[in-house]
Amino acid sequence: MTEEFEEELTDDQIDRYARHLVLPEVGEEGQLKLLNSKVLVIGAGGLGSPLLLYLAAAGVGTIGVVDDDKVDLSNLQRQVIHDTDHIDHPKVQSASARLKAINPDVTINTYEFRLNDTNVDEIVQAYDLVADGCDNFKTRYLINDACYRQKVPLVSAAIMRFDGQLTTFRAFEDDDKPCYRCLFGDEQIAEKGSCADVGVLGALAGTMGSLQSVEVIKELLGIGESLENTLLLYDSLGTSFHRMKTKRDPACTLCGNK
Ligand code: ZN
Repeated sequence: MTEEFEEELTDDQIDRYARHLVLPEVGEEGQLKLLNSKVLVIGAGGLGSPLLLYLAAAGVGTIGVVDDDKVDLSNLQRQVIHDTDHIDHPKVQSASARLKAINPDVTINTYEFRLNDTNVDEIVQAYDLVADGCDNFKTRYLINDACYRQKVPLVSAAIMRFDGQLTTFRAFEDDDKPCYRCLFGDEQIAEKGSCADVGVLGALAGTMGSLQSVEVIKELLGIGESLENTLLLYDSLGTSFHRMKTKRDPACTLCGNK
């Protein structure tokens, strides 16, 4: 990984990020913070597509993309980072090409394999923040546990049918903040089916992935209110958002009282 610390915006960057620079909450200092940030995105699928596009456009300087899949025709209903010409190409390659076309400032690290117990910690610890938009519970638990061990904040989104959820985990920080296991227990694996089985409204991925990108950028800049003790639920058919307060489960097998 290249370690180039940017201390000053170039003329092109002043133009490119002009709408950020006029926001007092971002400004030049915030933009430099984004350019020097490293975010790992799990999954270049429905959530990962808008998430990656907006993080690259925002000038997040280093973006890691983890996905071992190839682009399939059935992905294109929602995975808007990929296109018809890239069917059968690795998703990390298709995504990387699109991100570089949007913003040459951004360094893209691709990981074309599944995360597992032996590789996850080394990858996670190289980043400032992880954004999870994967499509399976096994990886969700793996990422949750590695982020807790490596003290890396995790912004987690999920979608199914017409419903979305979004939250931020910083369970490593103090006694009240929950992790994924605190909210969902240890045994959610494979109980609820997958999007392939039960379906998902394609545009819902756009809503939730875009919301996730906003939370990632807020966390990197340290602005606004974090979702760290809140589970945000979106019901697209009812057009309603609900916020649920969350807290640590003392019996959690990862972060509870030992
Ligand atoms: Zn926990």
